[in-house]
Amino acid sequence: MILDGATVVTMDAGRSEHGTGHVVIENGRIAAVGPGRAPAELAGPRTDVTGCLVTPGLVNTHHHLYQWVTRGLAVDDGLFGWLTTLYPVWAGIDEDVVGAAAAAGLAWLARTGCTTSTDHHYVFPADGGDVLGAEIAAARRVGLRFMPTRGSMDLGRRDGGLPPDHVVEDIDTILAATAAAVDAHHDPGPDSMLRIGIAPCSPFSVTGDLLRQAAELARDRKVRLHTHLAETLDEQEFCQDRFGATPVQYMESLGWLGDDVWLAHGIHFDDPAIATLAATGTGVAHCPSSNARLGAGIARTADLRAAGVPVGLGVDGAASNEACSLIEEVRHALLFARARGGPQAMAVRDALELGTIGGARLLGWDAEIGSLEPGKLADIAVWRLDGLAHADIADPVAALVLGSAPPLELLLVGGRPVVERDRVTTVDEHELTRSAVAAHRSLLDRAGTVTRTEGMAS
Ligand SMILES: [Zn+2]
Repeated sequence: MILDGATVVTMDAGRSEHGTGHVVIENGRIAAVGPGRAPAELAGPRTDVTGCLVTPGLVNTHHHLYQWVTRGLAVDDGLFGWLTTLYPVWAGIDEDVVGAAAAAGLAWLARTGCTTSTDHHYVFPADGGDVLGAEIAAARRVGLRFMPTRGSMDLGRRDGGLPPDHVVEDIDTILAATAAAVDAHHDPGPDSMLRIGIAPCSPFSVTGDLLRQAAELARDRKVRLHTHLAETLDEQEFCQDRFGATPVQYMESLGWLGDDVWLAHGIHFDDPAIATLAATGTGVAHCPSSNARLGAGIARTADLRAAGVPVGLGVDGAASNEACSLIEEVRHALLFARARGGPQAMAVRDALELGTIGGARLLGWDAEIGSLEPGKLADIAVWRLDGLAHADIADPVAALVLGSAPPLELLLVGGRPVVERDRVTTVDEHELTRSAVAAHRSLLDRAGTVTRTEGMAS
């Protein structure tokens, strides 16, 4: 397949761009990228994408897909109040709910330019079935490259944690299930569509013992580690009160810093914390829309990047970011960085870098994805910029980052079309919508019962 005639932004090490360029794809990988139209003698089907911008597919580094069916709740709350409202709803999830939510959430991510997504799943009700398997099956249906994490919570309310006791698991169950998930699903190969990470939920929902043993397990299995950190000032107080440490000092004491670790949010890092993250190569998944939606603050992306901390972008869970649009995160990353730090805080092309090669690096996947270079996997977004909203914006990268989210002409994952002309082609969007609505209704019905029962008991 040959993509011909578009502007091509490669995000390679030299940040090469071609005003008019071409990309040649063979066997799911990029065979050539270059300026001008593709040589006439090249064989293979040619797709004329004149009027479009070709970029690497976007990489989503933080999500909770199951939340797709619990959007629009606690819409005016901050994190802890929002969590307290939602935990009882989430307690009712099972493999059917998660499968429907994940398929809808991943299909929508694809519509917003995403070719690889992670997922941080940490709610495993005892009678919920195989929820991790359900989201893996959903990613296969939609056709996205996927790095779900086996998350966990073992610090319930009776032990001073935030989650209700009936949604936490014991440490032995968690470690056994996590090892089993990695052994069953993780594919480290170069063409991998599925890698697994290990991701206890957060310092206020997980014990230090679990964090330490999860890190040991991840290093034994050579998979990546992920958790939430420094999302709110409440968490800072929690760590100071219980451990006499900042969140980063606490995580460092448990073996949780390193270039195989990426942390979601990282809003409230002080200068010493940023220096420690940089020295250890620990990455940060910046989630600007969710952070703003919950009023949590906004990460110091300019300082993180200046210090050399790897930074990528995440939509975060759908319950705190109803839009779940990855291209919107690129735009918000730029706008919030400048709102916080002035016009020099982030360049337009730096914002796109966070959403592509930056995210790939966070996931340890940058040898295969994140830029358009010969030999890399053909994960490619083709944005249409010749319509009303974009045609007369002088700089096509500015049109993508600063303009409205453009129509997606084509999205390829390993050379396979997943989106064509703003429609997902691998699955039936109407069927996904119906299933997600049904899952949403059944989950809220179940939660309503729990809430009424609790009210009667008190
Ligand atoms: Zn999150």
